[in-house]
Amino acid sequence: MNDVIFKNILVINGEGEIVGSRDIAIREGVISKISSKDLGTYAKEVIDGKQLILMPGFINAHAHAEMVYFRGMLEDMTIQDWFNKGIWVVEGGLTEDDVYWAAILAIYEMIDAGITTFADHYFFMDKVAEAVELTGIRANLSWAFFGSGEGWEEKLDKALSFTQVWHNRNRRITTSLGPHAPYTCPPDLLKEVAGIAKEEKWKIHIHAAETKEQTEESLNRYGKTPIEILEETGILESHTIIAHALGVTDRDIDILSKHRVGISYVPKTYMKLSMGAGRVLELMEHNVPVGFGTDGQGSSNTLNIWEQMKLGALLLKFHYKDPTKFKINEIIRMGTKSAAEVLGLKDIGDIKEGYKADLITISFASPYLLPDADPRAHIIYSLQNINIRDVMVDGKFVKRNGILVGFDFDNVKREVEKRKKRLFSQEGQKLLQYYPA
Ligand SMILES: [Zn+2]
Repeated sequence: MNDVIFKNILVINGEGEIVGSRDIAIREGVISKISSKDLGTYAKEVIDGKQLILMPGFINAHAHAEMVYFRGMLEDMTIQDWFNKGIWVVEGGLTEDDVYWAAILAIYEMIDAGITTFADHYFFMDKVAEAVELTGIRANLSWAFFGSGEGWEEKLDKALSFTQVWHNRNRRITTSLGPHAPYTCPPDLLKEVAGIAKEEKWKIHIHAAETKEQTEESLNRYGKTPIEILEETGILESHTIIAHALGVTDRDIDILSKHRVGISYVPKTYMKLSMGAGRVLELMEHNVPVGFGTDGQGSSNTLNIWEQMKLGALLLKFHYKDPTKFKINEIIRMGTKSAAEVLGLKDIGDIKEGYKADLITISFASPYLLPDADPRAHIIYSLQNINIRDVMVDGKFVKRNGILVGFDFDNVKREVEKRKKRLFSQEGQKLLQYYPA
């Protein structure tokens, strides 16, 4: 027996194509059948899809989802002050329970916005994994570590042991190694990480070439760009998720196109911190997958991929001075299938038989989504969370009829408010790291 059948539902796939009206059967966490014919009603639950759209769940290709406490706290700052007076001071006081409660809030925020998978890069990741288990979302988790100062071996050991313990422990959780960035991790550490990743077949999730200035600083310090350092240390020999890469040179793009890498692109953060628009067109022309991410709430405020898709389309059209580029199908792809490619996950990000049942349904019953037009344009330029009616991960509803399944708002609010107050009132906290390193 099927678990769910969606009947007569308009399907948009991960390529951003409108497939047409279909019946879709879900069984044991997988999309078992997609048909233009009537699949009947032999299922535990049958959903009439006549007024709905079904598409892959959004994939968040780069997040520090637990930066909940910084939301709205670090406004109108330079990137240096943002790190040195904000993020890296307060993060020194974080406890594992702070991270757990932040993860719970963050995951429900993402589910509400139709995100079914997120790639996360933070600390106390065992607590994030527990929150992922509890809430029902899918995640690729990396325990981030810095290489400056003494004792990086110990930090690497801890990160590695998390990676080994949690990979596939739950069928919704995969792990990667998460060195922070070439400017915070010396080449020796990167070499060590690359060797372990290659031997044990881990993916790597790292920040690199975040801005043009970072690339210039790297050239001054090492005579090499951050991407060249990644190549020379062997980091690019594993599947590598690279966050940002706005400051890449022509040679860097050639290097990236020769390796199994993907780029996470976070336009809201780039505009807010005046970081630039990057070279997305050139990367895509070189067949480097680019998918949207959210980064943390300290810079993006929200964890929301349809919002990043909208801002990304606007920023890139503006930046390249060409409104015909970054078409609606391409932007949908960057929020779904391309983001799955960035993460190196093959069976999510599309609506296909045999793929994981990670999907959303959208209702267009709002004034700003009328009249009937190309639904992809409505999704990119006009959507709100309230229009995301159902969110399914691994065949189970985590948002149903507009309600977040299992979310205790009052309890989560109490925990998060209390912890935020403590974190921002602590005196004399140690600075985790200095920017630029
Ligand atoms: Zn980041």
